[in-house]
Amino acid sequence: MKAEALFWQQCTQAVTDDGSIDAQRLMDLVIATYRVHESNYDEIERRVETLLRENHVLRGNISALGQAFDGQKKLFEIILNNLPLGLSVFDADQRLTLSNIRFRQLFDLTAEDLTAGATIADLTAKMRGRESTKPGRRTGRHSSATAKSSGLRRREWLMDDGRIIQSMVTILSDGSNISIHADITEDRRAAERITYLAHHDPLTGLPNRIHFREQVDATLAERKPDEQIALVHLNLDRFKSINNTMGVSAGDKILQQVAERVRASAGSENTLARLGSDEFAILQTGKQQPWNVTALAEQIRRELSEPFFHGEKQVELSVSMGIAIAPEDGEETDILLKNAGVALSHAKADGRKRERFFAGEMEAQMQLRHALEADLKAAVENEEFELHYQPLYDLSQRRICGFEALIRWNHPVRGRVPPMDFIPLAEEVGLVVDIGRWVLRRACNDAALWPEGIKIAVNVSAIQFSSSDLTRDVSEALAAAALSPSRLELEITESVLMENLSEVLPILHALKERGIRISMDDFGTGYSSLSYLSSFPFDKIKIDKSFVNDIVDNREAHAIMHAIILLGDALGMRVTVEGVETVEQLALLECEECDEIQGYHISPPRPACDVPHLLSLPPKSGGVTRLPKTKH
Ligand code: C2E
Ligand code: CA
Ligand code: CA
Repeated sequence: MKAEALFWQQCTQAVTDDGSIDAQRLMDLVIATYRVHESNYDEIERRVETLLRENHVLRGNISALGQAFDGQKKLFEIILNNLPLGLSVFDADQRLTLSNIRFRQLFDLTAEDLTAGATIADLTAKMRGRESTKPGRRTGRHSSATAKSSGLRRREWLMDDGRIIQSMVTILSDGSNISIHADITEDRRAAERITYLAHHDPLTGLPNRIHFREQVDATLAERKPDEQIALVHLNLDRFKSINNTMGVSAGDKILQQVAERVRASAGSENTLARLGSDEFAILQTGKQQPWNVTALAEQIRRELSEPFFHGEKQVELSVSMGIAIAPEDGEETDILLKNAGVALSHAKADGRKRERFFAGEMEAQMQLRHALEADLKAAVENEEFELHYQPLYDLSQRRICGFEALIRWNHPVRGRVPPMDFIPLAEEVGLVVDIGRWVLRRACNDAALWPEGIKIAVNVSAIQFSSSDLTRDVSEALAAAALSPSRLELEITESVLMENLSEVLPILHALKERGIRISMDDFGTGYSSLSYLSSFPFDKIKIDKSFVNDIVDNREAHAIMHAIILLGDALGMRVTVEGVETVEQLALLECEECDEIQGYHISPPRPACDVPHLLSLPPKSGGVTRLPKTKH
């Protein structure tokens, strides 16, 4: 009750019968009321005090909360502005509500550009760059389907200064969005570099095998019915020997020059790739075949026939090529590549330095070759070889003065395989190194059992010069047999010198210095036997049997033989004529004052056990008497 109403009530109660107010009664009433309320006031006072206290505590709490909030806000700002990523928040009306400094930096915007309420359109107009229409491929984690369902969108921006900015935009249900933005320029470049490296050969910068296959795939897929596609598989002949003799880094430099020349020959209209160490491939499209690819192959051959240089050193190279043409030789990349490879193997087997077009029967031949190669490997391990010896007959002394070691392969199923059927293959696959080492050892061991004056001649392949330490192999074979070096002759053909004269000559000189004799074999069968004769002081030249056939009946053949014997004489080299089969040939060569002969007339090659018998045979003669010459 309000105070006035209460007092009015008290006054009413204090009115006496005469209508006046009994002051005492009023006082009592007031005091009584007061007393009733006194205890209430105490209570109220106490409560007020409590309230005041609580109010104080609350105020304290509010202030602490306010301080904490300020702290959190500052922390939030520090985090926001020190994020390595840009951050932006746009409301449902696409107006900016929040962004950080990195966002501003990434998009080249000013603080004024970023006032709250700016729209996305405003900002895109102000930034120095544009949205990329084709964002680069990512690892695929955010496929567009999952991106849409999760409200996540990726956008990419190409800035004028070349930077690439990627935005990951999270769209919330109310239409507002939160985005984080990152500079992915370095990542993208690294990814592009990785892709490039995975598709290119680092040495030459040419597309590699993977890339080439993709290009062949694509070209075949787009081929029109009347269009032909030629695939050329190139392989440098005996490039390994360059690496072995000049070192890998010199080999690399030469490969770069090769790539450059092939690139120039192939032109920009053809696709060139490096498939492996010394292997290249070219894809030629949309042209009349086989004429155009033949012209291309000839152009490459011409380019590569010019010498290569590494510093002072000059290197001669040749190339073998295999060609397959789609659709005739296959319409799938794998088949076309395989068939070009088969044709290449045939080009190699046919003596290298040539191109061969794929032909159906090649495959069967290749399989036979592979089988032979596998057998040959086993033969080396199982020592299925044997040496036969053919006498070298000294015409003036009328006696056998030595034997040439000729290898025989006793194949467990095929029987005896002649050397011409496996030595070229062994040379190609490198097995001739092991075989040659075995021949040297066996020949020296056998010769050590023969009389002192009897020499042993061993054939050495070009590969043995380039792929093995021939000098060491020879020394070890001589030492193991305790044979004098003066009893060993090494027969080399022109091909040894053609491979790499500058590398071979020091080896030949080293061998000669040790007292080993060096013979030039098959003289006259190569292109430049004469020029090679002057490059090294051979001890002997062996005139090829093809020159003997007609010497008795044909004047020209006789004249040529006469001239070669004179030449050998003039150079101070012994002359051996190979393939002497008749007594007439022997008589003529006796007249010509030839030093030595070899051939079936004296004896065909015989097993080692027949050597003592051969040495005991009476002298053979054509009946011509002459004085011994004074040459060595
Ligand atoms: P080559 O060094 O010219 O050996 C001479 C070849 O002529 C031998 O053939 C021999 O049997 C044959 N021959 C000898 N006399 C006559 C004859 O009067 N008339 C005819 N028509 N032929 C005769 P073979 O044994 O079949 O050897 C062929 C080639 O194989 C050799 O030619 C040589 O280049 C190579 N060869 C043989 N053994 C080895 C070896 O151990 N290592 C290397 N790298 N090559 C070898
Ligand atoms: Ca020989
Ligand atoms: Ca020969």
